Amino acid sequence: MKKTVRDIDVKGRKVIVRVDFNVPMKEGVITDDVRMTAALPTINYLLENGAAVILMSHLGRPKGQPKPEFSLKPVAEHLKELVGCPVIFAASDLVVDDCVKKQAEDLKCGEIMVLENLRFRPEEEKNGEEFSKELASLADIYVNDAFGTAHRAHASTAGIAAFLPAVSGFLIEKELKFLGEAVDSPRRPFVAILGGSKVSDKIAVIENLLDKADTVIIGGGMAYTFLKANGCPIGASLCEEDRLELAKELQKKAQEKGVRFLLPVDSKLGDRFAEDCATAFADSETMPEGWMGLDIGPRTIDLYQKAVKDAGTVLWNGPMGVFEFKAFEDGTRAVAQALAESSAVTVVGGGDSAAAIKKFGLEDRISHVSTGGGASLEYLEGKVLPGVAALQDK
Ligand code: AMP
Repeated sequence: MKKTVRDIDVKGRKVIVRVDFNVPMKEGVITDDVRMTAALPTINYLLENGAAVILMSHLGRPKGQPKPEFSLKPVAEHLKELVGCPVIFAASDLVVDDCVKKQAEDLKCGEIMVLENLRFRPEEEKNGEEFSKELASLADIYVNDAFGTAHRAHASTAGIAAFLPAVSGFLIEKELKFLGEAVDSPRRPFVAILGGSKVSDKIAVIENLLDKADTVIIGGGMAYTFLKANGCPIGASLCEEDRLELAKELQKKAQEKGVRFLLPVDSKLGDRFAEDCATAFADSETMPEGWMGLDIGPRTIDLYQKAVKDAGTVLWNGPMGVFEFKAFEDGTRAVAQALAESSAVTVVGGGDSAAAIKKFGLEDRISHVSTGGGASLEYLEGKVLPGVAALQDK
């Protein structure tokens, strides 16, 4: 267990917090501030408990160069509207310089200061020790609350923790609680649903979950590599020819471990990869040539919904089909709906499945939707996240 802000006295201290304010922007305007509101519980807790708060984040990919279009200034301005206290923006292309140090020194309890985009400095992504020290020199305590970058060993996510007492914020605490409990001490039966385009991206996740889950359900483009490995015709569907052996091995492992392994029994097909293609349905044993499976079919939806129904824990990562196209969103919608209606603990990995939950307006009916696509995937692979490992143990 990692220490959190609750385990440390912050009164009268300067606290530097790594947040994930990497918000989507269009022409300088923030189009979705959910990442900012997600950090508010930690920020408000620190302010209410007498700390002065210094926030740092990256925004986009300025590639180690100061680029005005990636400045965090609009984010700092928006933050002013979200919190009822003074917010100072430390406008420095160097992120930390003498002027910023002075601003940090003068910062009073109950005030917030926002640093410039961390990735204006090339040392950030290289986990440069000097930059870590510069950041640490601004404060007395370090808090990491940016789960989305916790799988990266950067100066602001890992390096800085060597120079200050380091604890987690509430967002990381929540991510670790839900992902951790789902994987390590799930209420059973534990059903893991994995989708998305490629088997190769999910091998490590499938392998790790075969040791933990009672049922593994496969959907999305990657299902066709498994079906082909089992001798089914897959037409023009996605297939990773070099993973056919592996697909067989994974199923054998599942059998040996007594894990139920479900593949689509039917698909919704398109005659090409396009929104306005002709569509048809086929069972997995009889997919016609030239067509591609772009979503799970109605019998599969029924099968997968039933598997979720009695679950104690459901973990979902990756869409069941090309849900970006209206004609192929039904499988993903049905799985999302099944999670929403389930009494199980439901955890959705970030990325596309989180986007799908949002698209279908079901966020409030899921126990936890992860804020980090890459980070949650690495966690599910059983990897140690550097941004978490660097924090103090309880
Ligand atoms: P990933 O990035 O691997 O998580 O995969 C997500 C993407 O997989 C989404 O953009 C989906 O449109 C795509 N996808 C899901 N099912 C299929 C499918 N049957 N064929 C092609 N692409 C798919």
